[in-house]
Amino acid sequence: MSRDINNKFWDEELETLPREELEKRQLADLQEIVKFAYENSPYYKRSFDEAGVKPEDIKTLKDIQKFPFINKKTQRDTQGVGSFLGELAAVSEEDVVFISTSSGSTGVPTMSPFTKKDFDEFQDTESRWFWQIGMRPNDRYVHALNFSLYVGGPDVIGAQNLGALCIWGGTLPSERLLFVLKTYQPTVIWTSPSYAWQLGEKALKSGIDPKKDLNIKKIIVAGELGGSIDATRKAIEDIWGAEVYDFYGLSDIFGACAAMCEAKDGLHIAENHILVETIDIHTGEILEPGQVGELVFTTLRKHARPLIRFRTGDIGRIDNTKCSCGRTHGRIHILGRKDDMFIVSAVNVFPSDIEAVIREQDGITGEYLIRIFERDFTNKYAVEIEKNADNPKSDDEVAAEVTAALKARIGVKPARVVVNPDGGLDTRSEHKSRRVIDERTLDYSI
Ligand SMILES: [Zn+2]
Repeated sequence: MSRDINNKFWDEELETLPREELEKRQLADLQEIVKFAYENSPYYKRSFDEAGVKPEDIKTLKDIQKFPFINKKTQRDTQGVGSFLGELAAVSEEDVVFISTSSGSTGVPTMSPFTKKDFDEFQDTESRWFWQIGMRPNDRYVHALNFSLYVGGPDVIGAQNLGALCIWGGTLPSERLLFVLKTYQPTVIWTSPSYAWQLGEKALKSGIDPKKDLNIKKIIVAGELGGSIDATRKAIEDIWGAEVYDFYGLSDIFGACAAMCEAKDGLHIAENHILVETIDIHTGEILEPGQVGELVFTTLRKHARPLIRFRTGDIGRIDNTKCSCGRTHGRIHILGRKDDMFIVSAVNVFPSDIEAVIREQDGITGEYLIRIFERDFTNKYAVEIEKNADNPKSDDEVAAEVTAALKARIGVKPARVVVNPDGGLDTRSEHKSRRVIDERTLDYSI
């Protein structure tokens, strides 16, 4: 590969396209994919006919608003119907080279098929993100993500195509992973934010100082929100002496659809692949760019199973202004999952807001557990934390501090803050932590 390693862009022309040019390309691809979906997918044929819309109705990007939404349920209801790939698919099985499936953490797992071209473009996008955070062919990279069924598994191919030396780590037990980091001295690793933090702590406890004994310069995190929470990112950076970059993926699209650049102000989304809309979570009304709502994605180039107006369930906003890094593709800011958001005294609360407060407080470990419950038919929340062993303050003092900080940031204070000793919370699971326990019995889904 003859790419200039000093060029900051993987694909300079694409990444710096003037907005009008980018939107012109989006429109051409949108017209093509909507027509392709209508002509080849039984579901879209039926759904567009029922809605009284035709592919020819797309004359501008805004015309997508005339088309019906789909969501996770649409995928579940149509998969396996009519054929192995289901009614949303627009190609036959012979054209498919890869499938990933969602974790099924919120129901039946859904399958995402890729044609050869879909897959190659997916990996080229992943190479672009790796290059964007500064990975170069002379880097050694550990891909410490699950390889089983998960769409993030194959992302390692994007790093290999870039020319980096890749170590297919997967979800190794932490002792073994630390051995790999110490022995092979890799420079870049990708894992979840909670695991990056815990692995750093584990290293320190076993006598390895990540800053001195290891060579990790960059950490990619995804799968949880931590990487977009400044305090969490800084806590991980402090342990490792490395830069942390947040990536955002969807099992239905790519392992990473969006990634931070050096500005760390939101995540650039691959707008050549994804048309982003933001809608009101309650009414479905279309919001202006910059307003917070549910993100709706239309895949512009995936032919195996096009997603037209897919409601992601993620709450956030898009910023289409040019970034200081020079890239013109918009940046998304994710606040959380719609399913994780809860309402207390008419205030929308995201677990990520609570995490940000906990990670900024001195004298506590940063581990936490959130409980959501009802009292008198009203939502309440409680937070459990851990006090550092060397913190001289009483538990009551610590609880009062945390309560005040939560009230200041979120607007509603917790019903209680429970203070545990260091190590007292059972939240240090490998690779992905469960930190929110919903004890409500009523259905609050929105
Ligand atoms: Zn940027």
